[in-house]
Amino acid sequence: MNNTAKLLQAARFAATKHVKQKRKGNDGAPYINHPLEVANLLANVGKIEDYDVLIAAILHDTVEDTETTREEIAEKFGENVAKMVLEVTDDKSLPKAERKQKQIEHAPHLSIGAKQIKLGDKISNIRDVVENPPDGWSGQRRREYVEWGEKVVAGLRGANMELEKNFDELVKEAKLKL
Ligand code: NDP
Ligand code: ZN
Repeated sequence: MNNTAKLLQAARFAATKHVKQKRKGNDGAPYINHPLEVANLLANVGKIEDYDVLIAAILHDTVEDTETTREEIAEKFGENVAKMVLEVTDDKSLPKAERKQKQIEHAPHLSIGAKQIKLGDKISNIRDVVENPPDGWSGQRRREYVEWGEKVVAGLRGANMELEKNFDELVKEAKLKL
């Protein structure tokens, strides 16, 4: 299978897996908008051309948020993609505060591809927190989310300059608006 065919297959696979999910913002956007946005940021802002990274970006929330298994991803998209998806998958059996702390601690130890995906993920989520926040989030909760994102991204530095620049500009804008 060529790279474009595999990328489109990943988009279709993720769309099917996330079909019943919506983002938490009050526009009620379909969940799939977010992984597509992350992959788009990697390709068009980060200028990343490694198809395994772009495919893993599209699939990055499937194991964490749907019934998808690592084995399913490895079989369809290869071990390299499965490994990156697992690297960015939180252990949901842990309490939320611990999960958030682990993201900060693990960030510097991720592979370069996983770091790039996390950069895109934090850009997409902080943009949502600024423009289309989850229902009921106070100003303080939104600001805390941005501050936590900055701590995670501190451990991702060096993975992609363009994405880091985009993140820094977004944080500046977020702090003015929130
Ligand atoms: P959650 O983890 O509950 O929600 C954020 C996650 O939801 C994102 O990382 C993203 O994950 C997903 N998501 C889906 N839709 C959206 C959207 N429209 N906008 C943003 N994210 C979306 O939030 P936290 O627990 O991290 O809460 C943020 C901060 O607030 C924390 O630092 C915590 O300390 C604090 N807090 C404050 C509370 C309060 O009442 N003041 C209560 C609880 C926490 P994905 O990419 O996986 O989809
Ligand atoms: Zn995500």
